[in-house]
Amino acid sequence: MIRLSQIQKHFGAHPVLKGIDLLLPAGSVTALIGPSGSGKSTLLRCVNLLEMPQHGSVQVGETRIDFDHRGQHSRHAILALRRQTGMVFQNFQLFPHRTVLQNVMEGLVTVQKWSRDQARERAMTLLEKVGMAHKADAWPATLSGGQQQRVAIARALAPAPQVLLCDEPTSALDPELAGEVVEVLRQLAQEGMTMLMATHDLRLAANIAQHVVFLEDGAVIESGAPDAVFGQPRHPRTADFVSTLT
Ligand code: ADP
Ligand code: MG
Repeated sequence: MIRLSQIQKHFGAHPVLKGIDLLLPAGSVTALIGPSGSGKSTLLRCVNLLEMPQHGSVQVGETRIDFDHRGQHSRHAILALRRQTGMVFQNFQLFPHRTVLQNVMEGLVTVQKWSRDQARERAMTLLEKVGMAHKADAWPATLSGGQQQRVAIARALAPAPQVLLCDEPTSALDPELAGEVVEVLRQLAQEGMTMLMATHDLRLAANIAQHVVFLEDGAVIESGAPDAVFGQPRHPRTADFVSTLT
């Protein structure tokens, strides 16, 4: 349901993604692993078009955009594709001057033009889902990192995206707080949310994902089921990298 074909991205003369193919079946969870600088964040940003690839195509559901060297794409298609994706960042990126509830409601009201009452209702449902309804009126700065990330997940889910993109969602958290975020993501996976997450966290990559993709230097070196990639890596570079994970 999400298909990337031959995605290329370079910054100036520096090639960062060298022709990536990736298929995310509906309801599947894919972990993107690889060394720092291998292009994981850039790839995630190419899915929701925070970065525009210079070549290849991105398809989310019915919406497909073909990129070429000219970069002429309809604004309409770009917005349509962005609406199908939700993004969770390593550092949460909540709006500091808005309450928890306002953070989750905001996009529904300003972008999707929902009424405040409807947006509040949906936001509260999502906050209950991530175990944060009791903090609806709190300010982000008063929350733990794990709580902030759970709110950020609720916010990303608010417009009912077809895919949730997570960029190292537990990397900024102590193990205990990371655990509560892992639990929320595990529950979403069980409910059939399609997810693509860049992570160094084996609890996410080995236990929640059905597919693992190892990226190095802008190319997919190896991919497969977690048991295969972590247990019997075929490529020596994968084996080296996997041995560094905890
Ligand atoms: P990862 O998430 O795997 O650590 P990134 O996608 O962040 O990797 O970065 C891949 C490469 O692209 C790095 O060499 C990084 O310096 C470069 N890069 C990322 N974003 C930009 C940018 N906006 N401008 C220039 N270079 C960038
Ligand atoms: Mg990154």
